[in-house]
Amino acid sequence: MSGIKRSRVKIEKYCRQCNTQFFVPNYRKNIAVYCSRNCQALASREKIITTCVTCGNEFTHISSRANKAKYCSRSCYHKGQKGKGSIEYTCQHCDKKFLGSPSHKRKFCSRACVNKSNKSVGTHLSLQLEKLWHLER
Ligand SMILES: [Zn+2]
Ligand SMILES: [Zn+2]
Ligand SMILES: [Zn+2]
Repeated sequence: MSGIKRSRVKIEKYCRQCNTQFFVPNYRKNIAVYCSRNCQALASREKIITTCVTCGNEFTHISSRANKAKYCSRSCYHKGQKGKGSIEYTCQHCDKKFLGSPSHKRKFCSRACVNKSNKSVGTHLSLQLEKLWHLER
């Protein structure tokens, strides 16, 4: 049945997601934005706009990184790490992890640990050395 020729006007569009050329019927020309369902899904899989913690620039990233992405760039990340004012230390007395300013190199989590370790610094050290000695053998 080669019947009536319908004027099937197809509108050329470019996929907003993958930039592939595709055609849509005229009535969809304003709705169609993506070439495929897949692209639509990808696109709606959220580009999240986040403000860089360091420089305040807005940047986009995908939502799967939402918890990690805080910086617009690697350099901002490093600046952010430095400027944060706290890095993790391990107490040399009780081995507890604690946060402290990077400018003050802290060895102990608390004053109590400082005092304790000052008292026992001699024995503590020699014990450590003894341990090492045994380990190496
Ligand atoms: Zn596409
Ligand atoms: Zn930044
Ligand atoms: Zn401690």
